[in-house]
Amino acid sequence: MAKLPSLTDIINSVSEAEYRSAINNRKTVMKDWNTFKTSKIIPGYNEPGGKSLTMVSGMDPDDVAFNAKMAKNAAHPNSKINIVHQMGVSLSHAGTSGLFDACAGCKTTECEKLCNSESGRGGIHKEGMDNVTLRAQRIRSAYWAENPQFAGALTVMQARRGAANARAEGMVPAMRFNMWSDVHLPSTTLAGPFVYDLEGLGSQDPEATGAAKHAPMLTHTNYTKRTMNRVLRPGEKEFDADNPSNYIETGSISNQTPVKRVQQRVDVGKTAQAAVYAKETQVKPSTWTMQDSQGNRGTFKSYDADQSDTRFLDETLGYGGQVGLLRHKLTPAFRESGYTSGPSSFIRPIDPDAPVGSPTGIPAQYAETTPVSIGRKPSRKQMSRD
Ligand code: SF4
Repeated sequence: MAKLPSLTDIINSVSEAEYRSAINNRKTVMKDWNTFKTSKIIPGYNEPGGKSLTMVSGMDPDDVAFNAKMAKNAAHPNSKINIVHQMGVSLSHAGTSGLFDACAGCKTTECEKLCNSESGRGGIHKEGMDNVTLRAQRIRSAYWAENPQFAGALTVMQARRGAANARAEGMVPAMRFNMWSDVHLPSTTLAGPFVYDLEGLGSQDPEATGAAKHAPMLTHTNYTKRTMNRVLRPGEKEFDADNPSNYIETGSISNQTPVKRVQQRVDVGKTAQAAVYAKETQVKPSTWTMQDSQGNRGTFKSYDADQSDTRFLDETLGYGGQVGLLRHKLTPAFRESGYTSGPSSFIRPIDPDAPVGSPTGIPAQYAETTPVSIGRKPSRKQMSRD
Protein backbone atom coordinates (compact mmCIF):
# COMPACT_ATOMS: atom_id res chain seq x y z
CA MET A 1 0.00 0.00 0.00
CA ALA A 2 1.28 3.48 -0.90
CA LYS A 3 2.48 5.60 2.01
CA LEU A 4 -0.15 8.07 3.13
CA PRO A 5 0.69 11.77 3.42
CA SER A 6 0.83 13.03 6.99
CA LEU A 7 -1.88 15.28 8.41
CA THR A 8 0.90 17.83 8.94
CA ASP A 9 1.63 17.72 5.17
CA ILE A 10 -2.08 18.22 4.45
CA ILE A 11 -2.23 21.24 6.77
CA ASN A 12 0.97 22.71 5.30
CA SER A 13 -0.31 22.31 1.73
CA VAL A 14 -2.19 25.58 2.38
CA SER A 15 -0.37 28.84 3.16
CA GLU A 16 -1.16 31.02 6.16
CA ALA A 17 -2.45 33.73 3.80
CA GLU A 18 -4.83 31.23 2.19
CA TYR A 19 -6.14 30.16 5.60
CA ARG A 20 -6.67 33.79 6.61
CA SER A 21 -8.46 34.53 3.35
CA ALA A 22 -10.87 31.61 3.94
CA ILE A 23 -11.42 32.65 7.59
CA ASN A 24 -12.47 36.07 6.25
CA ASN A 25 -14.99 34.37 3.94
CA ARG A 26 -17.03 32.70 6.63
CA LYS A 27 -20.22 32.28 4.60
CA THR A 28 -18.44 30.54 1.72
CA VAL A 29 -16.69 28.12 4.08
CA MET A 30 -19.89 27.30 5.99
CA LYS A 31 -21.86 26.75 2.77
CA ASP A 32 -19.20 24.38 1.43
CA TRP A 33 -18.97 22.42 4.72
CA ASN A 34 -22.76 22.19 5.08
CA THR A 35 -23.02 20.70 1.59
CA PHE A 36 -20.06 18.38 2.10
CA LYS A 37 -21.10 16.91 5.44
CA THR A 38 -24.70 16.21 4.40
CA SER A 39 -23.81 14.63 1.06
CA LYS A 40 -20.55 12.76 1.64
CA ILE A 41 -21.06 9.01 2.03
CA ILE A 42 -17.95 7.33 3.39
CA PRO A 43 -17.30 3.78 2.09
CA GLY A 44 -18.50 1.30 4.72
CA TYR A 45 -20.99 3.71 6.25
CA ASN A 46 -24.61 3.96 5.21
CA GLU A 47 -25.40 7.63 5.54
CA PRO A 48 -23.80 11.06 5.20
CA GLY A 49 -23.32 13.21 8.29
CA GLY A 50 -26.17 15.10 9.92
CA LYS A 51 -26.82 18.81 9.73
CA SER A 52 -25.46 19.34 13.23
CA LEU A 53 -22.03 17.78 12.56
CA THR A 54 -19.25 20.22 13.49
CA MET A 55 -15.49 20.12 12.97
CA VAL A 56 -14.92 21.22 16.56
CA SER A 57 -16.74 19.31 19.29
CA GLY A 58 -17.95 21.10 22.42
CA MET A 59 -18.45 24.64 21.15
CA ASP A 60 -21.34 25.14 23.56
CA PRO A 61 -20.10 25.51 27.15
CA ASP A 62 -23.59 24.66 28.45
CA ASP A 63 -23.46 21.27 26.75
CA VAL A 64 -20.92 19.70 29.09
CA ALA A 65 -22.15 16.20 28.28
CA PHE A 66 -20.75 16.14 24.74
CA ASN A 67 -17.99 13.92 25.95
CA ALA A 68 -17.81 12.29 29.39
CA LYS A 69 -14.07 12.95 29.53
CA MET A 70 -14.50 16.67 29.00
CA ALA A 71 -17.54 16.86 31.30
CA LYS A 72 -15.34 15.56 34.13
CA ASN A 73 -13.72 18.98 34.45
CA ALA A 74 -17.04 20.66 35.34
CA ALA A 75 -17.59 18.30 38.28
CA HIS A 76 -14.07 18.69 39.71
CA PRO A 77 -13.81 20.38 43.15
CA ASN A 78 -10.68 22.38 42.17
CA SER A 79 -11.72 25.87 41.07
CA LYS A 80 -8.87 26.06 38.52
CA ILE A 81 -10.20 22.91 36.82
CA ASN A 82 -13.98 23.31 36.99
CA ILE A 83 -13.92 26.59 35.09
CA VAL A 84 -12.18 25.05 32.08
CA HIS A 85 -14.28 24.57 29.01
CA GLN A 86 -12.62 22.07 26.74
CA MET A 87 -13.24 21.55 23.04
CA GLY A 88 -11.69 18.99 20.71
CA VAL A 89 -11.23 17.89 17.11
CA SER A 90 -12.01 14.21 16.62
CA LEU A 91 -10.47 12.85 13.42
CA SER A 92 -9.79 9.26 12.37
CA HIS A 93 -6.67 8.12 14.22
CA ALA A 94 -3.36 7.24 12.51
CA GLY A 95 -4.08 5.97 8.96
CA THR A 96 -7.63 4.74 9.57
CA SER A 97 -9.16 7.42 7.34
CA GLY A 98 -7.28 5.82 4.44
CA LEU A 99 -6.49 9.39 3.35
CA PHE A 100 -3.65 10.57 5.61
CA ASP A 101 -1.63 9.53 8.62
CA ALA A 102 -2.82 11.63 11.54
CA CYS A 103 0.00 10.38 13.80
CA ALA A 104 2.99 10.22 11.43
CA GLY A 105 6.32 9.74 13.19
CA CYS A 106 4.59 9.24 16.54
CA LYS A 107 2.38 6.15 16.50
CA THR A 108 3.51 2.61 17.27
CA THR A 109 1.85 -0.52 15.91
CA GLU A 110 0.48 -1.20 19.35
CA CYS A 111 -0.96 2.24 20.12
CA GLU A 112 -2.56 2.35 16.69
CA LYS A 113 -4.39 -0.87 17.50
CA LEU A 114 -5.40 0.24 21.00
CA CYS A 115 -6.07 3.92 20.31
CA ASN A 116 -8.83 5.27 22.53
CA SER A 117 -10.54 6.57 19.42
CA GLU A 118 -11.70 2.98 18.99
CA SER A 119 -12.84 2.61 22.59
CA GLY A 120 -15.73 4.18 24.46
CA ARG A 121 -18.53 5.15 22.14
CA GLY A 122 -16.26 4.77 19.12
CA GLY A 123 -15.75 1.09 19.87
CA ILE A 124 -19.40 0.16 20.10
CA HIS A 125 -20.07 -1.07 16.63
CA LYS A 126 -22.97 -3.36 15.83
CA GLU A 127 -22.52 -5.25 12.60
CA GLY A 128 -24.50 -3.83 9.71
CA MET A 129 -25.15 -0.55 11.52
CA ASP A 130 -23.48 2.78 11.17
CA ASN A 131 -21.19 3.79 13.99
CA VAL A 132 -22.04 7.47 14.34
CA THR A 133 -18.82 8.45 16.13
CA LEU A 134 -16.46 6.78 13.66
CA ARG A 135 -18.49 8.04 10.70
CA ALA A 136 -18.24 11.61 12.02
CA GLN A 137 -14.45 11.20 12.35
CA ARG A 138 -14.26 9.93 8.77
CA ILE A 139 -16.32 12.80 7.37
CA ARG A 140 -14.21 15.42 9.15
CA SER A 141 -11.03 13.68 7.97
CA ALA A 142 -12.35 13.48 4.40
CA TYR A 143 -12.96 17.23 4.47
CA TRP A 144 -9.37 17.87 5.55
CA ALA A 145 -8.11 15.70 2.67
CA GLU A 146 -10.46 17.18 0.07
CA ASN A 147 -10.40 20.85 1.05
CA PRO A 148 -7.70 21.55 3.63
CA GLN A 149 -8.02 25.31 3.21
CA PHE A 150 -11.68 25.32 4.26
CA ALA A 151 -11.21 22.54 6.84
CA GLY A 152 -8.45 24.57 8.54
CA ALA A 153 -10.49 27.76 8.35
CA LEU A 154 -13.57 25.97 9.71
CA THR A 155 -11.53 24.57 12.62
CA VAL A 156 -10.24 28.03 13.52
CA MET A 157 -13.65 29.68 13.10
CA GLN A 158 -15.44 27.13 15.27
CA ALA A 159 -12.66 27.09 17.87
CA ARG A 160 -12.85 30.88 18.12
CA ARG A 161 -16.65 30.74 18.37
CA GLY A 162 -16.48 28.14 21.15
CA ALA A 163 -13.75 30.07 22.97
CA ALA A 164 -15.82 33.28 22.80
CA ASN A 165 -18.88 31.42 24.13
CA ALA A 166 -16.78 30.11 27.04
CA ARG A 167 -15.20 33.48 27.82
CA ALA A 168 -18.61 35.15 27.92
CA GLU A 169 -19.56 32.69 30.67
CA GLY A 170 -16.35 33.32 32.61
CA MET A 171 -14.87 29.97 31.61
CA VAL A 172 -11.31 29.31 30.45
CA PRO A 173 -11.36 27.91 26.88
CA ALA A 174 -9.08 25.00 26.00
CA MET A 175 -8.66 23.08 22.77
CA ARG A 176 -7.48 19.51 22.24
CA PHE A 177 -6.89 19.42 18.51
CA ASN A 178 -5.09 16.08 18.74
CA MET A 179 -7.92 14.03 20.20
CA TRP A 180 -6.82 11.16 17.93
CA SER A 181 -3.91 12.68 16.03
CA ASP A 182 -0.40 13.92 16.77
CA VAL A 183 0.37 17.19 15.00
CA HIS A 184 2.52 20.02 16.36
CA LEU A 185 0.36 22.98 15.36
CA PRO A 186 2.94 25.72 16.15
CA SER A 187 5.13 24.24 13.37
CA THR A 188 2.37 24.41 10.74
CA THR A 189 0.97 27.13 8.51
CA LEU A 190 -2.13 27.16 10.72
CA ALA A 191 -0.08 28.38 13.70
CA GLY A 192 -0.81 32.09 13.16
CA PRO A 193 -4.60 32.08 13.15
CA PHE A 194 -5.03 29.05 15.42
CA VAL A 195 -2.30 29.46 18.06
CA TYR A 196 -0.38 32.77 18.09
CA ASP A 197 -3.39 35.07 17.44
CA LEU A 198 -5.06 33.60 20.53
CA GLU A 199 -2.08 33.78 22.91
CA GLY A 200 -3.08 37.15 24.43
CA LEU A 201 -5.25 37.46 27.53
CA GLY A 202 -9.01 37.07 27.36
CA SER A 203 -9.32 40.64 28.67
CA GLN A 204 -8.88 41.73 25.03
CA ASP A 205 -12.40 40.41 24.51
CA PRO A 206 -14.97 42.94 25.84
CA GLU A 207 -17.45 40.09 26.35
CA ALA A 208 -15.08 38.07 28.60
CA THR A 209 -15.92 37.83 32.28
CA GLY A 210 -14.29 36.46 35.44
CA ALA A 211 -11.36 34.08 35.14
CA ALA A 212 -11.58 34.14 31.35
CA LYS A 213 -10.04 37.64 31.38
CA HIS A 214 -6.83 36.39 32.96
CA ALA A 215 -6.26 33.31 30.78
CA PRO A 216 -5.19 33.19 27.12
CA MET A 217 -7.96 33.70 24.55
CA LEU A 218 -7.48 29.97 23.82
CA THR A 219 -5.11 27.43 25.38
CA HIS A 220 -4.12 24.36 23.40
CA THR A 221 -3.68 21.19 25.45
CA ASN A 222 -2.34 18.06 23.77
CA TYR A 223 -0.65 14.73 24.39
CA THR A 224 2.24 13.84 22.07
CA LYS A 225 4.57 10.95 21.36
CA ARG A 226 6.98 13.24 19.48
CA THR A 227 10.50 12.16 20.60
CA MET A 228 8.90 9.97 23.28
CA ASN A 229 9.79 6.69 21.54
CA ARG A 230 13.56 7.24 21.92
CA VAL A 231 16.12 8.83 24.21
CA LEU A 232 16.83 12.55 23.56
CA ARG A 233 20.22 13.14 21.95
CA PRO A 234 22.84 15.19 23.85
CA GLY A 235 21.78 18.84 23.71
CA GLU A 236 18.40 18.05 22.17
CA LYS A 237 15.56 20.05 23.71
CA GLU A 238 12.30 18.72 25.10
CA PHE A 239 9.52 18.71 22.48
CA ASP A 240 7.70 21.52 24.28
CA ALA A 241 10.71 23.70 25.11
CA ASP A 242 9.95 26.34 22.45
CA ASN A 243 6.16 26.18 22.46
CA PRO A 244 4.16 29.40 22.65
CA SER A 245 2.74 30.02 26.13
CA ASN A 246 -0.77 28.95 25.11
CA TYR A 247 0.36 25.61 23.62
CA ILE A 248 0.92 23.06 26.40
CA GLU A 249 1.86 19.45 25.73
CA THR A 250 2.48 16.38 27.84
CA GLY A 251 4.49 13.31 26.80
CA SER A 252 2.64 10.11 25.99
CA ILE A 253 4.43 6.90 26.96
CA SER A 254 4.18 4.08 24.41
CA ASN A 255 5.39 0.49 24.30
CA GLN A 256 8.56 1.84 22.64
CA THR A 257 9.34 4.54 25.23
CA PRO A 258 12.61 3.86 27.07
CA VAL A 259 12.60 4.38 30.85
CA LYS A 260 15.54 6.75 30.28
CA ARG A 261 13.31 9.01 28.15
CA VAL A 262 10.75 9.32 30.94
CA GLN A 263 13.60 10.06 33.34
CA GLN A 264 14.81 12.86 31.02
CA ARG A 265 11.35 14.38 31.03
CA VAL A 266 10.74 14.28 34.79
CA ASP A 267 14.28 15.51 35.47
CA VAL A 268 13.37 18.85 33.86
CA GLY A 269 10.09 19.11 35.79
CA LYS A 270 7.83 18.07 32.91
CA THR A 271 5.04 15.49 32.80
CA ALA A 272 4.47 12.26 30.89
CA GLN A 273 1.40 10.01 30.81
CA ALA A 274 1.14 6.23 30.96
CA ALA A 275 -1.85 4.07 30.07
CA VAL A 276 -2.46 1.51 32.82
CA TYR A 277 -4.84 -1.30 33.66
CA ALA A 278 -7.14 0.00 36.42
CA LYS A 279 -10.77 -0.18 37.40
CA GLU A 280 -12.79 3.05 37.14
CA THR A 281 -12.83 3.68 40.89
CA GLN A 282 -9.36 2.26 41.62
CA VAL A 283 -7.06 4.57 43.58
CA LYS A 284 -3.83 5.23 41.66
CA PRO A 285 -0.51 5.01 43.55
CA SER A 286 1.79 7.97 44.30
CA THR A 287 4.79 6.12 42.84
CA TRP A 288 4.84 3.94 39.75
CA THR A 289 7.43 1.50 38.45
CA MET A 290 7.72 1.41 34.68
CA GLN A 291 9.36 -1.41 32.76
CA ASP A 292 10.50 -0.80 29.18
CA SER A 293 10.92 -3.18 26.25
CA GLN A 294 14.60 -3.70 27.16
CA GLY A 295 13.60 -4.81 30.65
CA ASN A 296 14.92 -1.60 32.25
CA ARG A 297 12.97 -0.24 35.17
CA GLY A 298 12.45 3.19 36.68
CA THR A 299 10.30 4.30 39.60
CA PHE A 300 8.62 7.69 39.27
CA LYS A 301 6.35 9.88 41.36
CA SER A 302 2.89 9.48 39.91
CA TYR A 303 -0.58 11.05 39.99
CA ASP A 304 -4.10 10.14 38.96
CA ALA A 305 -4.49 11.78 35.54
CA ASP A 306 -8.08 10.50 35.29
CA GLN A 307 -9.25 13.09 37.81
CA SER A 308 -9.55 15.74 35.09
CA ASP A 309 -8.75 16.26 31.45
CA THR A 310 -6.96 19.56 31.99
CA ARG A 311 -3.43 18.34 31.23
CA PHE A 312 -2.32 21.95 30.57
CA LEU A 313 -2.83 22.70 34.29
CA ASP A 314 -0.87 19.72 35.62
CA GLU A 315 2.42 21.56 36.09
CA THR A 316 0.65 24.57 37.65
CA LEU A 317 -1.08 22.19 40.05
CA GLY A 318 2.27 20.75 41.19
CA TYR A 319 2.54 17.60 39.09
CA GLY A 320 5.66 18.66 37.18
CA GLY A 321 8.33 15.95 37.32
CA GLN A 322 5.71 13.19 37.67
CA VAL A 323 4.01 10.54 35.55
CA GLY A 324 0.23 10.73 35.16
CA LEU A 325 -1.52 7.36 35.24
CA LEU A 326 -4.49 6.99 32.92
CA ARG A 327 -6.94 4.12 32.97
CA HIS A 328 -7.16 2.71 29.47
CA LYS A 329 -10.65 2.11 28.17
CA LEU A 330 -10.44 -1.55 27.25
CA THR A 331 -12.97 -3.01 24.90
CA PRO A 332 -13.88 -6.64 24.25
CA ALA A 333 -12.76 -6.01 20.66
CA PHE A 334 -9.12 -5.83 21.80
CA ARG A 335 -9.31 -9.29 23.32
CA GLU A 336 -11.25 -10.64 20.37
CA SER A 337 -8.51 -9.36 18.04
CA GLY A 338 -5.99 -11.38 20.06
CA TYR A 339 -4.43 -8.50 22.01
CA THR A 340 -2.38 -9.63 24.99
CA SER A 341 0.15 -7.66 26.96
CA GLY A 342 3.13 -7.91 29.26
CA PRO A 343 4.73 -5.46 31.72
CA SER A 344 6.23 -3.25 28.96
CA SER A 345 3.24 -3.12 26.60
CA PHE A 346 1.44 0.13 25.71
CA ILE A 347 -1.05 -0.57 28.50
CA ARG A 348 1.02 -1.43 31.55
CA PRO A 349 0.17 -2.89 34.94
CA ILE A 350 0.21 -0.56 37.94
CA ASP A 351 2.74 -2.96 39.48
CA PRO A 352 4.97 -4.89 37.04
CA ASP A 353 5.51 -7.63 39.65
CA ALA A 354 1.84 -8.10 40.58
CA PRO A 355 0.42 -11.50 39.63
CA VAL A 356 -1.84 -11.69 36.59
CA GLY A 357 -5.44 -11.13 37.61
CA SER A 358 -4.60 -9.24 40.83
CA PRO A 359 -5.94 -5.64 41.26
CA THR A 360 -2.62 -4.02 40.26
CA GLY A 361 -1.57 -6.62 37.69
CA ILE A 362 -2.61 -7.38 34.12
CA PRO A 363 -6.22 -8.64 33.92
CA ALA A 364 -6.25 -12.38 33.18
CA GLN A 365 -8.08 -11.89 29.87
CA TYR A 366 -5.32 -9.64 28.50
CA ALA A 367 -2.27 -11.44 29.90
CA GLU A 368 0.28 -13.03 27.57
CA THR A 369 0.17 -16.22 29.58
CA THR A 370 -2.88 -17.79 31.15
CA PRO A 371 -2.43 -18.34 34.88
CA VAL A 372 -2.01 -22.06 35.62
CA SER A 373 -4.82 -23.55 37.63
CA ILE A 374 -3.42 -24.99 40.84
CA GLY A 375 -6.81 -26.31 41.95
CA ARG A 376 -6.51 -29.57 40.01
CA LYS A 377 -4.62 -32.43 41.60
CA PRO A 378 -3.70 -35.62 39.72
CA SER A 379 -6.12 -38.44 40.32
CA ARG A 380 -5.05 -41.61 42.19
CA LYS A 381 -5.29 -43.49 38.90
CA GLN A 382 -2.85 -41.05 37.22
CA MET A 383 -0.46 -41.32 40.17
CA SER A 384 -0.53 -45.10 40.19
CA ARG A 385 0.54 -45.15 36.53
CA ASP A 386 4.00 -43.73 37.40
S1 SF4 B 1 -2.58 6.54 20.68
FE1 SF4 B 1 -2.04 8.60 19.87
S2 SF4 B 1 -0.33 8.25 18.44
FE2 SF4 B 1 -1.31 6.26 18.82
S3 SF4 B 1 -2.80 6.04 17.14
FE3 SF4 B 1 -3.92 6.96 18.88
S4 SF4 B 1 -3.81 9.17 18.59
FE4 SF4 B 1 -2.25 8.21 17.26
